[in-house]
Amino acid sequence: VFIGHAAVGFASKAAAPRASLGWLLAAPFLLDFLWPVFVLLGIEQTTIERGPTPFLNFAFDSYPWSHSLAMAVVWAVLYGAFAHFFTQQAAVGVVAGLGVVSHWICDAIVHRPDLPLWPGSMVYVGMGLWNSVPLTLAVELSMFAAGVWLYTRATRPRDGSGRWALAALVAFLLAAYAGAAFGPPPPNMTAAAIGTLALLLLVPWAIWIDRHREVTEGMEE
Ligand SMILES: [Zn+2]
Repeated sequence: VFIGHAAVGFASKAAAPRASLGWLLAAPFLLDFLWPVFVLLGIEQTTIERGPTPFLNFAFDSYPWSHSLAMAVVWAVLYGAFAHFFTQQAAVGVVAGLGVVSHWICDAIVHRPDLPLWPGSMVYVGMGLWNSVPLTLAVELSMFAAGVWLYTRATRPRDGSGRWALAALVAFLLAAYAGAAFGPPPPNMTAAAIGTLALLLLVPWAIWIDRHREVTEGMEE
C-alpha cells in the first residue's frame, strides 16, 4: 500500500503548504519505518507467506507496537509534537499527526483482518482490499494520482530540479510499486525489513524536491 501512503503525503501539502514535503511524506510512512525495526529486534513477528494475490506476501503474525490503532495514535501525537517543535508551526504538527494515523486507516482498508486495536486486543481489523488485484490497482493508483495532482496544484517548480526531481520520485514510486506487485516476493524477512527501511531515502528526496518548488498563490495560509 506504500503508494497510497505516498498519496496521503503528497496530498497533505494542500493542507499544510508551508510544511516541507519531507515532514509530510514521512508521516504516513512512520508506522512502516517502525515495523521493520521492531521485526529486526524481534519485538514483532512477520513471516513471508505466498498469498492468493501478490499484495498478500506477508503474514503479520504480531505487530501491535507499530500497527495497533492505539499505538498509531501514540506515534501520531509524538511525531506531531516533534514536527511542531522543529518547525514551530502548529498546523504542521497537526497535519503530520493526522498523516501518521492515516497509515492505520489505509492499512485497515487493504490488509486482511490482522490490525489489532491495542496491544493485547483480540479484535483485529482489515477489510482485505488486497484480495482483489484489479480493485487494489484501481484504488491505490487513483489515490496516488490524486495525491500527486494536489501537490502539483499546491506548488510550482522554481527551477528544473523542482520539476525533474518530482517526476523522478513519481516514476520511482510507480516502478517500485510494479516491482512489489508483479515481481517475486522478498527472499526472507530480513531482506524485506531492510528493503522497507530503504524507503527512508524518500525523506531527503522529498526535502530536496520541496526546496526547488514554491507554494502557488492562493495556497499560502
Ligand atoms: Zn503498514
